[in-house]
Amino acid sequence: MSNTVLTNARLFSGVDGAVIEGASLWWEEGVIRFAGPSGDLGGVPDGAWRIDLGGKFLMPGMTESHAHISYTNNGPTELDKTPVEEAMLHSVANARLMLGAGFTSAISFGSVHRIDVHLKQGIEQGHIPGPRLVASGRDVGATSSNADLHPDHARPQMEGLGMLVDGPWAVRRAVRILKKNGADIIKIFLDGEGLSDHAPPGQLTYTDEEVDAAVSEAHRRNMRVACHARSAAAVKQAVRFGVDVIGHANYLDDEAVDLLRRHRHRLAVGPAIAWEIEFLNHHDSLGFSREAVLDKGYEREVEATVDAVKRLRAAGVRVLPGGDYGLNITPHGTYANDLQYFVERFGMTSTEALLCATRDGGAVADPNGMVGTLEAGKHADMVVVDGDPVADIRILQDSARIAAVIKGGRIYQGLMDNNPYERQGAEALALAIGQANGAGAERTAGH
Ligand SMILES: [Zn+2]
Repeated sequence: MSNTVLTNARLFSGVDGAVIEGASLWWEEGVIRFAGPSGDLGGVPDGAWRIDLGGKFLMPGMTESHAHISYTNNGPTELDKTPVEEAMLHSVANARLMLGAGFTSAISFGSVHRIDVHLKQGIEQGHIPGPRLVASGRDVGATSSNADLHPDHARPQMEGLGMLVDGPWAVRRAVRILKKNGADIIKIFLDGEGLSDHAPPGQLTYTDEEVDAAVSEAHRRNMRVACHARSAAAVKQAVRFGVDVIGHANYLDDEAVDLLRRHRHRLAVGPAIAWEIEFLNHHDSLGFSREAVLDKGYEREVEATVDAVKRLRAAGVRVLPGGDYGLNITPHGTYANDLQYFVERFGMTSTEALLCATRDGGAVADPNGMVGTLEAGKHADMVVVDGDPVADIRILQDSARIAAVIKGGRIYQGLMDNNPYERQGAEALALAIGQANGAGAERTAGH
């Protein structure tokens, strides 16, 4: 019944790096029926909507592979400081921003409270706009891990952020609680962070037995596992025990690269470099001197990551954009910055960065293979761009250039506006009551 045909598109299908000029895309009931050269289009039923894109760029919706939709643009040690009620309201807005920015899928790397699961339900039921969400729950971490943020003398309840669990059976129980609460993916901390003196990168915070318990329990219950692993030791632990999505992987040795290469078909790596780059840029606003930042190893970490990504790509390991947006220095809505980092820091072409964000991210987000490319049989998830991101990848950061986002055949526009529900002025009201071009609205002289 519901058939829509987009014509006159510059089509980047994401199947390979090609851009097809003068292309068409046809979807029916939210599923793509055809995407390719207009001359090959056939079989469209009478009564279909036809929309001329006027040569605009048409690409698959992107995947944010390390999402924290429930983070509220707080500082990195204040993730648990927002009341759940307020965090939920922010999360609704953040999900809208993520979709509006062209990210039609997201893999969560940890949610405060149970927000992700309920957010996902609201999105799927059509109550709120947002990406297809692989929902996570609270972080799983050991006592004195990076999830254990606060010293004992100032110990808050940590109600919403981390589940601090020690020992294989306690870890299994945490995974079971997350299963009961509806999570799709478990986020676990394997090592730490330069800012955490008690849990630096390279110091494993879980034993092998605990990681094995987390992953085997999650897989047994049909959930996946994402981890924080900065060091080669943590990455090797992740691969050996079957973690599915590895976050950071900043420092690699030969053995880690070889392990990743051998398991590359079942896993992916997301460097999530935005946090380090913005911390180096804005350390003052977080109360850190330049010396302190260098002392904590962040500059070295960025350099190491550039080298790690080169080695991962040479080994054929999928590297995904996304990561740690939702902090004060990496606010929600700026997710497309990651593609610029992939080009400028990691030396990819724009086309390669686009393929990472679409084809590769989509394949990891949806193991059923329904998203990430524009091909017959896949979900109609796409972005209409006013401009050419192949020529300049930064175009995707400009909300004015995101002409429309389409998810499952539903069309979204203006989601990046501060309040897309509100229209300004009498002209909007005239339009709303059916007066073409707002013709019924006129300004009168004041008195
Ligand atoms: Zn994260």
